[in-house]
Amino acid sequence: MAEQTSLNDLQQHDDFIRRHLGPREDEIQAMLQELGLDSLDDLIEQAVPHKIQVDKPLAVDESRSEAETLAYLKSLANKNTVAKSYIGMGYYDTVTPTVILRNVLENPGWYTAYTPYQPEIAQGRLEAILNFQQMSLDLSGMELASASLLDEATAAAEAMALAKRSSKNKKCNLFFIDKNVFPQTIDVVKTRAEHYGWDIHVGDLAELDSLDVFGALLQYTDITGQIHDLQPIIENLHAKKAIACVAADIMSLVMLKSPGEMGADVVFGSAQRFGVPMGFGGPHAAYFATRDTFKRSIPGRIIGVSVDTRGNQAMRMAMQTREQHIRREKATSNICTAQVLLANIAGFYAVYHGKKGLTNIANRINRYASVVAEALKDAGMTLVNNSWFDTLTFIADDVDAIKLRAEQAQINLRYDGNKIGVSIDEAKTQADIEALIQVLTGETSNLNYLDGKAEGSIPSHLVRTSDFLTHPTFNDYYSETDMLRYLKRLENKDFSLAHGMIPLGSCTMKLNATSEMIPITWPEFAHIHPFAPEEQTTGYLEMIKELEADLVEITGYDFVSMQPNSGAQGEYAGLLAIKKYYESIGQSHRNICLIPSSAHGTNPASAQMAGMKVVVTKCDENGNVDVADLEAKASELKDNLAALMVTYPSTHGVYEEEIKQICEIIHDNGGQVYMDGANMNAQVGISKPGEIGSDVSHLNLHKTFAIPHGGGGPGMGPIGVKSHLAPFVSGHSVRKVHSVEAEQGAVSAAPYGSGMILPISWAYIKMLGRQGLRKSTEVALLNANYLKNKLAAHYPVLYTGRNDKVAHECIIDLRPIKAETGISEVDFAKRLMDYGFHAPTMSFPVAGTFMIEPTESESKYELDRFIEAMINIRQEVEKVRSGEWDAENNPLKNAPHTQADIRHWDKPYSIQDAVYPSQATMDGKFWPSVNRVDDVYGDRNLICSCPSIDSYHQD
Ligand SMILES: *Cc1c(COP(=O)(O)O)cnc(C)c1O
Repeated sequence: MAEQTSLNDLQQHDDFIRRHLGPREDEIQAMLQELGLDSLDDLIEQAVPHKIQVDKPLAVDESRSEAETLAYLKSLANKNTVAKSYIGMGYYDTVTPTVILRNVLENPGWYTAYTPYQPEIAQGRLEAILNFQQMSLDLSGMELASASLLDEATAAAEAMALAKRSSKNKKCNLFFIDKNVFPQTIDVVKTRAEHYGWDIHVGDLAELDSLDVFGALLQYTDITGQIHDLQPIIENLHAKKAIACVAADIMSLVMLKSPGEMGADVVFGSAQRFGVPMGFGGPHAAYFATRDTFKRSIPGRIIGVSVDTRGNQAMRMAMQTREQHIRREKATSNICTAQVLLANIAGFYAVYHGKKGLTNIANRINRYASVVAEALKDAGMTLVNNSWFDTLTFIADDVDAIKLRAEQAQINLRYDGNKIGVSIDEAKTQADIEALIQVLTGETSNLNYLDGKAEGSIPSHLVRTSDFLTHPTFNDYYSETDMLRYLKRLENKDFSLAHGMIPLGSCTMKLNATSEMIPITWPEFAHIHPFAPEEQTTGYLEMIKELEADLVEITGYDFVSMQPNSGAQGEYAGLLAIKKYYESIGQSHRNICLIPSSAHGTNPASAQMAGMKVVVTKCDENGNVDVADLEAKASELKDNLAALMVTYPSTHGVYEEEIKQICEIIHDNGGQVYMDGANMNAQVGISKPGEIGSDVSHLNLHKTFAIPHGGGGPGMGPIGVKSHLAPFVSGHSVRKVHSVEAEQGAVSAAPYGSGMILPISWAYIKMLGRQGLRKSTEVALLNANYLKNKLAAHYPVLYTGRNDKVAHECIIDLRPIKAETGISEVDFAKRLMDYGFHAPTMSFPVAGTFMIEPTESESKYELDRFIEAMINIRQEVEKVRSGEWDAENNPLKNAPHTQADIRHWDKPYSIQDAVYPSQATMDGKFWPSVNRVDDVYGDRNLICSCPSIDSYHQD
């Protein structure tokens, strides 16, 4: 009788592990053989120092199938209650236009792209972000807008920092915050000010007259709903040489006079209610706009318009060389990953609705608010605010009775002592408003009657009169067909993981599996307010606790804080925990942060934001931390040593043998070790930062743990800490963070950062399970070492570790080629586009190099295709060197080639050589939509708004 497969084996045939991994089992064997290895274990033995290897398997669950995982997650989601939210405070229900939901938010063509550092294959999202900037400018009435910040509260902190840098009231250290600014914003700004050593006064607007300040933060409309005339306040501030920062609700600006017209210097706010679900607090984009004079001080990225080599208009990230994270310890902000995907959605929401649609929505919200106000007045209740856009605050006659009715009707209100607040949003219908009035007054209502007697709620001098969204982009896509085609047209210009590998070192562009992505838009996750009552968020908390427990196990730390919503923000949060810890043991003088010269630019930027002094330590010729130099500096500075920030495996992609010793040196000199966890993909299941000797790390969930990069965000940067640091992680002033006892200041607007995307990392861990997690690391190492071996015959590999192995990435040196032939790393990057690839990380951590990280998700076929392209390009370089090709007019210097080139072919080499250099490109070609973009021109002629339509003309 033939042997029957067991039920277990049957199940395994559709397991997730093999779907997540690129190479098949037989390919893994073949690749191992090429490396002269017997097994994946053998590879780990050779590549990873023994002293850091874990001695037992991860104690996380066995891998589970996609279907099982989704079913279980659904059961958790069902424990959340989707109530009608009137809480407001910066988070509003919204209707994501379904054409945007499906074609952007749920579309890997958009969500798997990288930050648009290679503009020739990113014109789609560059245009989308430019729309976002234009929308920010129009609504705020300002001159220059950036490409999105992490949330409204951190944008407020950035505004304060800009105010401090820009105010002519130089000696002053005091920043004023109106007490009616959202409390989570006050919390985050206070945290930031404390570590910069600035003072904060939270008070009544009337107090401002008598205060000497460098800037002030106002909320428009304030938390009660009141619309203040900002003009006299701002004039008063300007008379003191102070900077006026205004947090403005983006929807209200459709109807209200813009803060820019009233003289504001910085205007910012959340763009969440433009089509991005509340998602328990994020991810959402914040917009940030300012005056042209402050353009060098603006935090984060800005998209600008430039030209390509044909003179055609092309967009790019403006002032890239002054990107904050390249300015290292001189940085004024540490923004790296931001919220590009969500900024795109908000911009598309404005495109979809246009001025007319937005005006309609804003009017409806305002009329409904006025109807509710009339009902409250009829019921004899007193309104706290006498003007409003969408928010009312009233003194309740019987809070308990209202609360009881609200709970029965599953309606969430904002409670504040004897006051109750309601904020209306676009998702509310007439039936909702009737139900709300019933809850608030106990009476039924006649909406038309109430509407008829309602008076204007916006003071006439604060009504918007200036035009907005006049650019054709906001007026051309009226039908869904046109909108769909616009979205698809932009998507088609962009290279994403849906096209090919994006081998960016340090960025870990791995599979973002569909099953991981599906849950984020489930209503039970998407439509939850971050300050919803605890009992409505049970499912979220269970999911978060499971994820925290798994991350504790994976990292070897004792505690995880979910709050930071980017890696850099995790660095900041981790350093603050270290500072607070030192304060608690009477060592608050410790303020020196050692950082190796090879560190990612966010490290020194975060250290400086945490009020620490950065001292750079050397690296040796192998790219490792120079232990002698480190030891000398640590002991010389030991009285004031606070921390070392070290990346492991190193930014050079090798496992340093001395890492344990490095940790000991720091501890012996009284410091703490901050291990940058961005390279955790080389550690999961194999080693643990907490066991190596580190005290705190951030994890980039958007790298190692499968959250997609979104074209430049969202991200999540939770931190793992040892128990002595646990009391010092961020708390939250509005909603207590579970298991966080002490009340430390917040670093993000929402208690759990960007809750909506946590199911992605949760599912990633559950579906891979203990075996799959370790195997992913092993295959990531295998892919990197396979690539390294194949490329080593053609390019010098800069650094290797023990047994000539690299970790999960490798650096190839292009400097000798440049010295000999003039072909630069940029030429290589652009030429790779002709071959259908996104370039690896360029010039980080070493100028003139490529850092290549294939990840475990790329197949052997794709690796071979990349290797072939790199070898071909090497041969092309030979033709330049030998003089067969002209030194300037050659396929490398002219790359990337476009369809426009073919229409006007004038090159000394063939079209075939230019655009079909490989079989793969003949089988399916990805066309860069513009020729090489001119960076210098763009910075000299800074244009950061949508250009006129005529100028879009392409030849
Ligand atoms: C990506 C990265 C960071 C910053 O993370 P963000 O989420 O972009 O803020 C820090 N360090 C290293 C080594 C990184 O690769």
